[in-house]
Amino acid sequence: KGQEDSKTKLRSVKSVAVLGGGISGLAAAYKLKSNGLDVTLFEAEERVGGKLKSVSRDGLIWDEGANTMLESEMEVTRILDNAGLRGKQQFSHFGGLVKIEIFWFDRLEEATSRLREAMVELLQPKPPIVGGASIAQRKTPVVIDDNKKKEGTSEAVVLCLERDYKCHQQQCSPRWACDKQVQGSPHTNSFGTVFSEHQLVAGTPMRHSGFGPPISHGVRDFFERHFGKEVVDYLIDPFVAATSAADLDSVSMPHAFPELWNLEKTFGSVIVGAIRSKLFGQKEKKGKMEPYSGKKNAQSGPFSFHGGMQSLANMLCKELGDGLKLNSKVLSLSCSLDENSISDNWSVSYATNHKKPSPDQSFDAVIMTAPLCNVKEMKILRRGYPFMLDFLPEVNYMPLTVVITAYKKENVRRPLEGFGVLIPSIEKQTNGYKTLGTSFSSMMFPDRAPSDVHLYTTFVGGSQNKDLAKASVYMILYSCECCFLISILSRLYCVMDELKEVVASDLGKLLGAQGEPAFFHCFYWSKAFPLYGHDYNSVLRAIEKMEESLPGFFYAGNHRGGLSVDNALASGCKAADLVISYLNSSSEDKLHLE
Ligand code: FAD
Repeated sequence: KGQEDSKTKLRSVKSVAVLGGGISGLAAAYKLKSNGLDVTLFEAEERVGGKLKSVSRDGLIWDEGANTMLESEMEVTRILDNAGLRGKQQFSHFGGLVKIEIFWFDRLEEATSRLREAMVELLQPKPPIVGGASIAQRKTPVVIDDNKKKEGTSEAVVLCLERDYKCHQQQCSPRWACDKQVQGSPHTNSFGTVFSEHQLVAGTPMRHSGFGPPISHGVRDFFERHFGKEVVDYLIDPFVAATSAADLDSVSMPHAFPELWNLEKTFGSVIVGAIRSKLFGQKEKKGKMEPYSGKKNAQSGPFSFHGGMQSLANMLCKELGDGLKLNSKVLSLSCSLDENSISDNWSVSYATNHKKPSPDQSFDAVIMTAPLCNVKEMKILRRGYPFMLDFLPEVNYMPLTVVITAYKKENVRRPLEGFGVLIPSIEKQTNGYKTLGTSFSSMMFPDRAPSDVHLYTTFVGGSQNKDLAKASVYMILYSCECCFLISILSRLYCVMDELKEVVASDLGKLLGAQGEPAFFHCFYWSKAFPLYGHDYNSVLRAIEKMEESLPGFFYAGNHRGGLSVDNALASGCKAADLVISYLNSSSEDKLHLE
């Protein structure tokens, strides 16, 4: 009993520093705090959230960072349940107006209803973005061609894409080049110019012969060999641009889509692999075989929170009290590595309001969630000696400008209902579009704008248009009011105008938005997303090296395990779990010594 008491006591005094108040840091801090640890969260900015940033002004609410998230990870479910967030969740207002049907042919031995259910379930959590528009959750059953289900004779996975839609006031094509489309039937195949109706678009899965040229790790090659060029051009390209601001050629398949990559490696076919894994997962739930992923299927589609994504961040730090240190930029860390003591191995020094350094604070462990470019700027000491971070490779970051516009409803001729529009690169080359895509913010969440206004969030930049993204920086420079800048201001205004024009022009073509927007605002992220490039293994290895060399140091965030909000949140929770077991094992070791 005495041992138990001292164990509990030891555990209760453990203190952890979480560096960075983005979603990963907040999730880590929340989990540690819920487990009774003493948590201090250092955030350089004056608010928590990092890439979650909601603004409320002029009767509008918009997000300058992430707009929505998915409940695709168990950790997200737990946090939503435990942190009282369910009541604040806000699901997109529209539903079922756009649908995708996937017909699937293959020769699986078991073309049973169970398989169909598995397929439907498998596809549901990932509302795909097809042909430049987002698709709502699909409800239609998968059709399996029973004639072709002979084991081992067919390799083809055939995908037919069709879309059904409804316009707000008039029937028209939802395709981004609306002006060029035939107005008419609400059931026109929206892929008219891309795929003929029920055209087969999926290719054959990769053959594993063991010979031949090495398999490319490129995203483009991967999807082309499975689904063909059109799917790549109209589905994968805009999806990758929307979720990472990168282009297909610079993203590494194993890092950006690790699950699909592993399915291909194991099963040869992505879809067959996904279904088999799913079925095995269901069959063997009692422990014989693990499902291919520890992830929980989403119960619903993308969602936000009342007041925007910032609400999630604000809720997660509510319990931190004095442990929340805003305007506190961490400058250096020191690890004493004292073998006889499990406590206070770490000290953290930081600058308040970016000015004078505050006295160091001591901790038993540290979770770092700042982007690696910021980590590189910090000084780290190990046993009093500098721990050089020169082994950390340079990470490439994608710049992005988020442009918020509002139009009076009478000035938008074709206000499409739906999640939004993504513009494939090929459309930029052929039809002169310049933006990456637009989220129909007030369609999704009507309370984000007055009832006579449409609110749009447009994304500009990414790897394909870095200079245009930068245009909004000039607005920030202008606010510096430095005299020497005045000479270039006129040019800068031109660039700002260019940004406004570009967005207005694309929205004009897409939605028939006329004239200047009634409201215009933009926000520039110079480092919106780290690029999971072809050499990203070196980044992951460097993170592991940091963790191995520095006991009690753990890294979390969107630089490992995925770029989405749910991935980053899960990464923070996983780091918290590791810290808890590290501290518990240290406590047990000490008790053992005693
Ligand atoms: P960050 O949010 O970058 O947090 C890191 C924090 O560390 C920051 O708050 C920073 O100020 C702080 N920091 C840095 N240096 C220091 C220091 N020295 N001391 C103290 N603090 C420091 N994902 C989705 O799932 N859905 C979307 O719709 C979506 N849209 C997006 C749109 C945009 C424009 C962007 C940029 C991202 C979007 N994402 C989206 C991605 C997602 O938002 C991010 O990947 C995720 O929020 C990153 O969280 P994080 O905690 O890893 O990092």
